[in-house]
Amino acid sequence: MLLLRRARVPAALLPPDLPRGAVDPLEPAVLCDVGLAGNEIVSVTPSSSAAAPAATAEIDAAGALVFPGFVDAHVHLDKTHTWHRAPNRTGTFWEAITSLANDKDNWTEADLLRRAGFALRTAYAHGTRVIRTHLDTGLPWSEVSHATMARLRAEWRGRIELQTIPLCGGADFVSDTGRKIADLAVRYGASALGGFLQMNPDLPAQIDGLLRLAQERGLGIDLHVDENDNPQAECLRLVAEGILRNGFTLPAVCGHCCSLAVQPRDRARSTIDLVKAAGLGIVSLPLCNVYLQDRRSAGTVFPRTPLWRGLTLVHDLLDAGVPVACASDNVRDAFYAFGDYDAAEVLVQSVRLAHLDVRLDAAVGAVTRTAADLVGLPTYGRVAPGSPAHLVVFGVQRFSELLSRPGSPRRIVNADGFAPAPLPDYAELQDR
Ligand SMILES: [Zn+2]
Repeated sequence: MLLLRRARVPAALLPPDLPRGAVDPLEPAVLCDVGLAGNEIVSVTPSSSAAAPAATAEIDAAGALVFPGFVDAHVHLDKTHTWHRAPNRTGTFWEAITSLANDKDNWTEADLLRRAGFALRTAYAHGTRVIRTHLDTGLPWSEVSHATMARLRAEWRGRIELQTIPLCGGADFVSDTGRKIADLAVRYGASALGGFLQMNPDLPAQIDGLLRLAQERGLGIDLHVDENDNPQAECLRLVAEGILRNGFTLPAVCGHCCSLAVQPRDRARSTIDLVKAAGLGIVSLPLCNVYLQDRRSAGTVFPRTPLWRGLTLVHDLLDAGVPVACASDNVRDAFYAFGDYDAAEVLVQSVRLAHLDVRLDAAVGAVTRTAADLVGLPTYGRVAPGSPAHLVVFGVQRFSELLSRPGSPRRIVNADGFAPAPLPDYAELQDR
Protein backbone atom coordinates (compact mmCIF):
# COMPACT_ATOMS: atom_id res chain seq x y z
CA MET A 1 0.00 0.00 0.00
CA LEU A 2 1.17 3.49 -0.83
CA LEU A 3 0.48 6.12 1.81
CA LEU A 4 0.16 9.72 0.66
CA ARG A 5 0.86 11.68 3.81
CA ARG A 6 -0.20 15.24 4.66
CA ALA A 7 -2.56 15.63 1.70
CA ARG A 8 -4.83 18.67 2.05
CA VAL A 9 -8.14 17.30 0.74
CA PRO A 10 -11.33 19.33 0.16
CA ALA A 11 -13.56 18.57 3.13
CA ALA A 12 -16.66 17.94 1.02
CA LEU A 13 -14.93 15.10 -0.82
CA LEU A 14 -13.93 13.16 2.29
CA PRO A 15 -16.00 10.43 3.97
CA PRO A 16 -18.76 12.19 5.94
CA ASP A 17 -17.78 10.37 9.15
CA LEU A 18 -14.09 11.36 9.01
CA PRO A 19 -13.20 13.17 12.24
CA ARG A 20 -12.42 16.81 11.54
CA GLY A 21 -12.46 20.09 13.39
CA ALA A 22 -14.36 23.15 12.27
CA VAL A 23 -13.77 23.67 8.54
CA ASP A 24 -12.70 27.16 7.46
CA PRO A 25 -15.19 28.25 4.75
CA LEU A 26 -12.41 30.10 2.90
CA GLU A 27 -10.05 27.13 3.06
CA PRO A 28 -12.38 24.12 3.33
CA ALA A 29 -9.80 21.34 3.40
CA VAL A 30 -8.53 18.75 5.89
CA LEU A 31 -4.97 17.43 6.21
CA CYS A 32 -5.17 13.66 5.64
CA ASP A 33 -3.13 10.53 5.06
CA VAL A 34 -4.54 8.58 2.12
CA GLY A 35 -3.77 4.90 1.52
CA LEU A 36 -3.82 3.56 -2.05
CA ALA A 37 -3.65 -0.11 -3.09
CA GLY A 38 -4.41 -1.58 -6.49
CA ASN A 39 -7.17 0.41 -8.12
CA GLU A 40 -8.69 1.79 -4.95
CA ILE A 41 -8.29 4.17 -2.08
CA VAL A 42 -8.16 1.86 0.95
CA SER A 43 -7.84 4.28 3.87
CA VAL A 44 -8.30 7.93 4.75
CA THR A 45 -7.29 9.20 8.19
CA PRO A 46 -6.66 12.69 9.55
CA SER A 47 -2.91 13.40 9.54
CA SER A 48 -3.25 14.46 13.16
CA SER A 49 -4.32 10.98 14.25
CA ALA A 50 -1.99 8.12 15.08
CA ALA A 51 -4.27 5.72 13.20
CA ALA A 52 -2.57 5.79 9.78
CA PRO A 53 -2.05 2.20 8.61
CA ALA A 54 1.36 0.72 7.91
CA ALA A 55 2.48 1.30 4.33
CA THR A 56 5.01 -0.29 2.01
CA ALA A 57 5.78 3.09 0.45
CA GLU A 58 5.13 6.70 1.35
CA ILE A 59 4.93 10.05 -0.38
CA ASP A 60 4.88 13.24 1.68
CA ALA A 61 2.51 15.73 0.06
CA ALA A 62 3.69 18.32 2.58
CA GLY A 63 0.30 19.99 2.82
CA ALA A 64 -0.35 20.26 -0.92
CA LEU A 65 -3.97 20.51 -2.08
CA VAL A 66 -5.05 17.08 -3.26
CA PHE A 67 -8.19 16.40 -5.29
CA PRO A 68 -9.65 13.13 -6.51
CA GLY A 69 -9.59 12.59 -10.27
CA PHE A 70 -11.92 15.12 -11.88
CA VAL A 71 -15.24 14.35 -13.54
CA ASP A 72 -16.01 16.38 -16.67
CA ALA A 73 -19.74 15.77 -17.05
CA HIS A 74 -20.38 17.44 -20.41
CA VAL A 75 -18.06 17.78 -23.42
CA HIS A 76 -18.19 17.34 -27.21
CA LEU A 77 -15.29 15.16 -28.35
CA ASP A 78 -16.66 14.91 -31.91
CA LYS A 79 -16.41 18.67 -32.43
CA THR A 80 -13.25 19.39 -30.49
CA HIS A 81 -10.11 20.93 -31.99
CA THR A 82 -11.80 21.90 -35.25
CA TRP A 83 -11.34 25.64 -34.80
CA HIS A 84 -8.66 25.89 -37.50
CA ARG A 85 -11.00 24.60 -40.20
CA ALA A 86 -14.45 25.56 -38.79
CA PRO A 87 -14.08 28.83 -36.88
CA ASN A 88 -16.84 31.12 -35.63
CA ARG A 89 -16.06 34.65 -36.78
CA THR A 90 -19.09 36.29 -35.12
CA GLY A 91 -18.95 34.18 -31.97
CA THR A 92 -22.70 33.57 -32.19
CA PHE A 93 -24.60 30.37 -31.40
CA TRP A 94 -26.07 30.04 -34.88
CA GLU A 95 -22.79 30.53 -36.71
CA ALA A 96 -21.40 27.78 -34.48
CA ILE A 97 -24.20 25.44 -35.65
CA THR A 98 -23.63 26.14 -39.35
CA SER A 99 -19.86 26.21 -39.18
CA LEU A 100 -19.68 22.77 -37.57
CA ALA A 101 -22.44 21.36 -39.80
CA ASN A 102 -20.20 22.20 -42.74
CA ASP A 103 -17.28 20.40 -41.09
CA LYS A 104 -19.02 17.07 -40.50
CA ASP A 105 -17.80 15.53 -43.75
CA ASN A 106 -14.31 15.63 -42.23
CA TRP A 107 -15.32 13.48 -39.25
CA THR A 108 -13.71 10.24 -40.38
CA GLU A 109 -12.46 7.63 -37.93
CA ALA A 110 -8.87 8.85 -38.34
CA ASP A 111 -9.89 12.48 -37.83
CA LEU A 112 -11.97 11.67 -34.73
CA LEU A 113 -9.25 9.47 -33.26
CA ARG A 114 -6.68 12.19 -33.67
CA ARG A 115 -8.76 15.02 -32.20
CA ALA A 116 -10.58 13.10 -29.46
CA GLY A 117 -7.45 11.15 -28.57
CA PHE A 118 -5.58 14.40 -28.13
CA ALA A 119 -8.43 15.67 -25.95
CA LEU A 120 -8.37 12.57 -23.72
CA ARG A 121 -4.60 12.75 -23.21
CA THR A 122 -4.97 16.44 -22.35
CA ALA A 123 -7.76 15.76 -19.86
CA TYR A 124 -5.80 12.93 -18.27
CA ALA A 125 -2.72 15.14 -17.88
CA HIS A 126 -4.87 17.71 -16.09
CA GLY A 127 -6.19 15.04 -13.72
CA THR A 128 -9.55 14.03 -15.19
CA ARG A 129 -10.81 10.49 -14.60
CA VAL A 130 -14.32 10.59 -16.13
CA ILE A 131 -15.55 12.27 -19.31
CA ARG A 132 -19.11 12.30 -20.59
CA THR A 133 -19.27 13.36 -24.23
CA HIS A 134 -22.30 14.21 -26.30
CA LEU A 135 -22.10 13.10 -29.94
CA ASP A 136 -24.06 14.72 -32.76
CA THR A 137 -26.22 11.88 -34.00
CA GLY A 138 -28.07 11.69 -37.31
CA LEU A 139 -28.68 8.75 -39.54
CA PRO A 140 -26.66 7.16 -40.96
CA TRP A 141 -23.63 9.44 -40.96
CA SER A 142 -22.96 9.44 -37.19
CA GLU A 143 -22.21 5.74 -36.74
CA VAL A 144 -18.50 6.42 -37.18
CA SER A 145 -18.58 8.86 -34.24
CA HIS A 146 -20.13 6.30 -31.90
CA ALA A 147 -17.89 3.48 -33.13
CA THR A 148 -14.75 5.60 -32.72
CA MET A 149 -15.69 6.65 -29.19
CA ALA A 150 -16.40 3.01 -28.29
CA ARG A 151 -12.88 2.19 -29.48
CA LEU A 152 -11.43 5.04 -27.41
CA ARG A 153 -13.51 3.93 -24.42
CA ALA A 154 -11.89 0.49 -24.58
CA GLU A 155 -8.40 1.93 -25.07
CA TRP A 156 -8.76 4.29 -22.10
CA ARG A 157 -10.46 1.91 -19.66
CA GLY A 158 -8.73 2.10 -16.29
CA ARG A 159 -7.49 5.64 -16.88
CA ILE A 160 -10.54 7.57 -18.09
CA GLU A 161 -14.12 6.34 -18.03
CA LEU A 162 -15.55 7.62 -21.33
CA GLN A 163 -19.32 7.95 -21.50
CA THR A 164 -21.25 8.76 -24.67
CA ILE A 165 -24.65 10.43 -25.16
CA PRO A 166 -26.36 10.77 -28.56
CA LEU A 167 -27.32 14.35 -29.43
CA CYS A 168 -30.21 14.82 -31.85
CA GLY A 169 -33.20 17.13 -32.32
CA GLY A 170 -36.39 16.88 -30.28
CA ALA A 171 -38.47 16.12 -33.41
CA ASP A 172 -36.64 12.81 -33.75
CA PHE A 173 -38.45 11.54 -30.65
CA VAL A 174 -41.87 11.65 -32.31
CA SER A 175 -40.76 9.65 -35.33
CA ASP A 176 -39.07 6.30 -35.82
CA THR A 177 -35.76 8.15 -36.11
CA GLY A 178 -35.58 8.49 -32.34
CA ARG A 179 -35.76 4.73 -31.87
CA LYS A 180 -33.08 4.13 -34.49
CA ILE A 181 -30.81 6.73 -32.89
CA ALA A 182 -31.34 5.21 -29.45
CA ASP A 183 -30.57 1.74 -30.77
CA LEU A 184 -27.43 2.97 -32.56
CA ALA A 185 -26.19 4.74 -29.45
CA VAL A 186 -26.90 1.78 -27.17
CA ARG A 187 -25.15 -0.58 -29.60
CA TYR A 188 -21.99 1.44 -29.00
CA GLY A 189 -22.41 1.66 -25.24
CA ALA A 190 -24.22 4.96 -24.64
CA SER A 191 -24.73 5.87 -20.98
CA ALA A 192 -27.95 7.83 -21.46
CA LEU A 193 -30.11 9.32 -24.20
CA GLY A 194 -29.79 12.99 -25.05
CA GLY A 195 -31.07 15.73 -27.28
CA PHE A 196 -31.11 19.40 -28.17
CA LEU A 197 -34.59 20.64 -27.29
CA GLN A 198 -36.24 23.80 -28.58
CA MET A 199 -39.58 25.38 -27.71
CA ASN A 200 -42.36 24.26 -30.07
CA PRO A 201 -45.97 23.07 -29.72
CA ASP A 202 -44.90 19.42 -29.97
CA LEU A 203 -42.29 19.64 -27.22
CA PRO A 204 -44.33 17.81 -24.54
CA ALA A 205 -44.93 14.97 -26.99
CA GLN A 206 -41.25 14.95 -27.93
CA ILE A 207 -40.27 14.72 -24.27
CA ASP A 208 -42.79 11.90 -23.73
CA GLY A 209 -41.27 10.06 -26.70
CA LEU A 210 -37.74 10.50 -25.37
CA LEU A 211 -38.70 9.31 -21.89
CA ARG A 212 -40.41 6.26 -23.36
CA LEU A 213 -37.30 5.36 -25.38
CA ALA A 214 -35.09 5.84 -22.31
CA GLN A 215 -37.40 3.87 -20.02
CA GLU A 216 -37.55 0.96 -22.46
CA ARG A 217 -33.75 0.78 -22.44
CA GLY A 218 -33.27 1.42 -18.73
CA LEU A 219 -31.27 4.56 -19.47
CA GLY A 220 -31.34 8.07 -18.07
CA ILE A 221 -31.43 11.28 -20.10
CA ASP A 222 -28.97 14.15 -20.51
CA LEU A 223 -30.31 17.11 -22.49
CA HIS A 224 -29.25 20.46 -23.92
CA VAL A 225 -31.89 23.05 -23.01
CA ASP A 226 -32.44 26.81 -23.06
CA GLU A 227 -28.99 27.89 -24.20
CA ASN A 228 -30.20 31.42 -24.89
CA ASP A 229 -31.47 34.62 -23.26
CA ASN A 230 -35.10 34.27 -24.34
CA PRO A 231 -37.40 34.29 -21.26
CA GLN A 232 -39.94 32.29 -23.30
CA ALA A 233 -37.46 29.40 -23.56
CA GLU A 234 -38.73 27.01 -20.91
CA CYS A 235 -37.57 23.60 -22.08
CA LEU A 236 -36.19 22.95 -18.59
CA ARG A 237 -39.65 23.45 -17.11
CA LEU A 238 -41.24 21.21 -19.71
CA VAL A 239 -38.67 18.47 -19.12
CA ALA A 240 -39.37 18.60 -15.38
CA GLU A 241 -43.11 18.47 -16.03
CA GLY A 242 -42.57 15.57 -18.46
CA ILE A 243 -40.58 13.60 -15.90
CA LEU A 244 -43.31 14.07 -13.31
CA ARG A 245 -46.11 13.35 -15.82
CA ASN A 246 -44.46 10.10 -16.93
CA GLY A 247 -43.30 8.97 -13.49
CA PHE A 248 -39.76 8.73 -14.93
CA THR A 249 -37.34 7.80 -12.16
CA LEU A 250 -34.12 7.08 -14.05
CA PRO A 251 -31.29 9.66 -13.84
CA ALA A 252 -32.08 12.93 -15.61
CA VAL A 253 -29.78 15.86 -16.33
CA CYS A 254 -30.28 19.15 -18.15
CA GLY A 255 -27.34 21.22 -19.37
CA HIS A 256 -27.09 25.00 -19.89
CA CYS A 257 -30.53 26.26 -18.66
CA CYS A 258 -29.32 29.85 -19.34
CA SER A 259 -32.74 31.42 -19.95
CA LEU A 260 -33.83 30.54 -16.41
CA ALA A 261 -31.75 33.55 -15.35
CA VAL A 262 -33.77 36.03 -17.44
CA GLN A 263 -37.25 34.83 -16.48
CA PRO A 264 -39.56 36.59 -14.01
CA ARG A 265 -38.49 35.65 -10.49
CA ASP A 266 -41.67 33.86 -9.47
CA ARG A 267 -41.66 31.86 -12.68
CA ALA A 268 -37.99 30.90 -12.24
CA ARG A 269 -38.66 29.93 -8.63
CA SER A 270 -41.56 27.69 -9.59
CA THR A 271 -39.46 26.08 -12.34
CA ILE A 272 -36.70 25.37 -9.81
CA ASP A 273 -39.33 23.77 -7.54
CA LEU A 274 -40.41 21.55 -10.44
CA VAL A 275 -36.77 20.68 -11.21
CA LYS A 276 -36.28 19.64 -7.58
CA ALA A 277 -39.50 17.62 -7.53
CA ALA A 278 -38.48 15.87 -10.76
CA GLY A 279 -35.09 14.91 -9.35
CA LEU A 280 -33.27 16.66 -12.18
CA GLY A 281 -29.58 17.48 -11.97
CA ILE A 282 -28.17 20.53 -13.72
CA VAL A 283 -24.89 20.90 -15.57
CA SER A 284 -23.75 24.49 -16.00
CA LEU A 285 -21.21 25.27 -18.71
CA PRO A 286 -19.92 28.66 -17.59
CA LEU A 287 -16.98 29.07 -19.97
CA CYS A 288 -19.00 28.34 -23.09
CA ASN A 289 -21.96 30.39 -21.86
CA VAL A 290 -19.86 33.47 -21.22
CA TYR A 291 -18.37 33.08 -24.69
CA LEU A 292 -21.58 32.54 -26.71
CA GLN A 293 -24.27 34.36 -24.76
CA ASP A 294 -25.06 38.04 -25.31
CA ARG A 295 -22.95 38.36 -28.43
CA ARG A 296 -23.65 41.78 -29.94
CA SER A 297 -22.86 42.53 -33.57
CA ALA A 298 -20.96 45.64 -34.60
CA GLY A 299 -23.20 48.48 -35.84
CA THR A 300 -26.52 46.82 -34.99
CA VAL A 301 -27.02 47.42 -31.28
CA PHE A 302 -25.91 49.77 -28.55
CA PRO A 303 -24.27 48.90 -26.28
CA ARG A 304 -22.29 46.29 -28.17
CA THR A 305 -20.55 45.06 -25.02
CA PRO A 306 -22.06 41.91 -23.45
CA LEU A 307 -24.21 42.69 -20.41
CA TRP A 308 -24.95 39.31 -18.88
CA ARG A 309 -22.86 36.26 -18.09
CA GLY A 310 -25.22 33.68 -19.55
CA LEU A 311 -25.10 31.46 -16.47
CA THR A 312 -28.06 29.62 -15.08
CA LEU A 313 -29.29 30.37 -11.53
CA VAL A 314 -26.53 28.36 -9.89
CA HIS A 315 -26.99 29.63 -6.33
CA ASP A 316 -30.77 29.43 -6.42
CA LEU A 317 -30.66 25.86 -7.68
CA LEU A 318 -28.14 24.93 -4.97
CA ASP A 319 -30.28 26.67 -2.33
CA ALA A 320 -33.20 24.52 -3.44
CA GLY A 321 -31.14 21.36 -3.05
CA VAL A 322 -30.72 20.72 -6.78
CA PRO A 323 -27.34 19.14 -7.64
CA VAL A 324 -25.31 21.41 -9.96
CA ALA A 325 -22.16 20.31 -11.76
CA CYS A 326 -19.93 22.49 -13.94
CA ALA A 327 -18.20 21.16 -17.03
CA SER A 328 -16.01 22.08 -19.99
CA ASP A 329 -18.55 21.80 -22.82
CA ASN A 330 -16.87 22.63 -26.12
CA VAL A 331 -13.12 22.99 -26.49
CA ARG A 332 -11.45 24.75 -29.42
CA ASP A 333 -14.40 24.62 -31.76
CA ALA A 334 -17.04 27.01 -33.09
CA PHE A 335 -19.05 26.89 -29.83
CA TYR A 336 -16.07 27.82 -27.69
CA ALA A 337 -12.80 28.92 -29.21
CA PHE A 338 -10.74 28.15 -26.11
CA GLY A 339 -10.51 25.52 -23.36
CA ASP A 340 -8.12 22.70 -22.53
CA TYR A 341 -10.15 19.96 -20.77
CA ASP A 342 -8.79 21.30 -17.52
CA ALA A 343 -11.45 20.69 -14.87
CA ALA A 344 -9.45 22.78 -12.41
CA GLU A 345 -9.77 25.71 -14.79
CA VAL A 346 -13.51 25.03 -15.07
CA LEU A 347 -13.76 25.05 -11.28
CA VAL A 348 -11.72 28.22 -10.88
CA GLN A 349 -13.60 30.10 -13.59
CA SER A 350 -16.97 28.87 -12.31
CA VAL A 351 -16.09 30.08 -8.81
CA ARG A 352 -15.14 33.48 -10.20
CA LEU A 353 -18.03 33.86 -12.67
CA ALA A 354 -20.82 32.54 -10.42
CA HIS A 355 -19.48 33.92 -7.12
CA LEU A 356 -19.12 30.42 -5.76
CA ASP A 357 -16.34 31.69 -3.46
CA VAL A 358 -19.07 32.19 -0.85
CA ARG A 359 -19.81 28.45 -0.85
CA LEU A 360 -16.44 27.02 -1.75
CA ASP A 361 -16.97 23.89 0.33
CA ALA A 362 -19.90 22.86 -1.86
CA ALA A 363 -18.46 24.31 -5.07
CA VAL A 364 -15.61 21.81 -5.35
CA GLY A 365 -18.24 19.13 -5.95
CA ALA A 366 -19.09 20.73 -9.30
CA VAL A 367 -16.17 18.98 -11.02
CA THR A 368 -15.88 16.04 -8.63
CA ARG A 369 -18.52 14.54 -6.33
CA THR A 370 -21.68 16.12 -7.73
CA ALA A 371 -20.55 15.59 -11.30
CA ALA A 372 -19.80 11.92 -10.51
CA ASP A 373 -23.27 11.47 -9.03
CA LEU A 374 -24.90 13.03 -12.10
CA VAL A 375 -23.09 10.69 -14.50
CA GLY A 376 -23.96 7.66 -12.37
CA LEU A 377 -20.48 6.90 -10.98
CA PRO A 378 -20.97 7.65 -7.28
CA THR A 379 -17.62 6.28 -6.07
CA TYR A 380 -15.75 8.79 -8.26
CA GLY A 381 -14.94 12.38 -7.37
CA ARG A 382 -14.21 11.51 -3.75
CA VAL A 383 -11.22 10.79 -1.54
CA ALA A 384 -12.76 7.89 0.35
CA PRO A 385 -12.24 4.15 0.76
CA GLY A 386 -13.55 2.37 -2.32
CA SER A 387 -12.98 5.36 -4.62
CA PRO A 388 -10.50 5.08 -7.52
CA ALA A 389 -6.80 5.31 -6.62
CA HIS A 390 -6.27 8.38 -8.73
CA LEU A 391 -5.37 11.64 -7.02
CA VAL A 392 -4.31 15.06 -8.28
CA VAL A 393 -1.57 16.68 -6.19
CA PHE A 394 -1.37 20.41 -6.86
CA GLY A 395 1.74 22.52 -6.45
CA VAL A 396 -0.17 24.81 -4.08
CA GLN A 397 -1.34 24.47 -0.50
CA ARG A 398 -4.30 26.81 -0.29
CA PHE A 399 -7.54 27.39 -2.20
CA SER A 400 -6.57 31.04 -2.44
CA GLU A 401 -3.49 29.99 -4.39
CA LEU A 402 -5.34 27.54 -6.64
CA LEU A 403 -8.08 30.07 -7.39
CA SER A 404 -5.46 32.70 -8.21
CA ARG A 405 -3.43 30.43 -10.48
CA PRO A 406 -5.81 28.22 -12.50
CA GLY A 407 -2.92 26.63 -14.38
CA SER A 408 -1.29 25.46 -11.17
CA PRO A 409 1.14 22.62 -11.82
CA ARG A 410 -0.01 19.24 -10.64
CA ARG A 411 1.01 15.59 -10.57
CA ILE A 412 -1.08 12.44 -10.78
CA VAL A 413 -0.71 9.83 -8.03
CA ASN A 414 -1.95 6.26 -8.18
CA ALA A 415 -1.09 3.22 -6.08
CA ASP A 416 2.28 2.90 -7.87
CA GLY A 417 3.30 6.47 -7.02
CA PHE A 418 3.53 9.45 -9.32
CA ALA A 419 2.23 8.57 -12.79
CA PRO A 420 3.65 10.35 -15.83
CA ALA A 421 0.95 12.31 -17.67
CA PRO A 422 2.52 14.67 -20.21
CA LEU A 423 0.38 17.28 -21.95
CA PRO A 424 0.29 16.58 -25.68
CA ASP A 425 1.81 19.15 -28.00
CA TYR A 426 -0.48 21.13 -30.32
CA ALA A 427 1.95 20.30 -33.13
CA GLU A 428 0.27 16.88 -33.26
CA LEU A 429 -2.91 18.53 -34.52
CA GLN A 430 -1.31 20.44 -37.37
CA ASP A 431 -2.35 19.27 -40.81
CA ARG A 432 0.69 17.83 -42.48
ZN1 LIG B 1 -22.99 20.81 -24.94
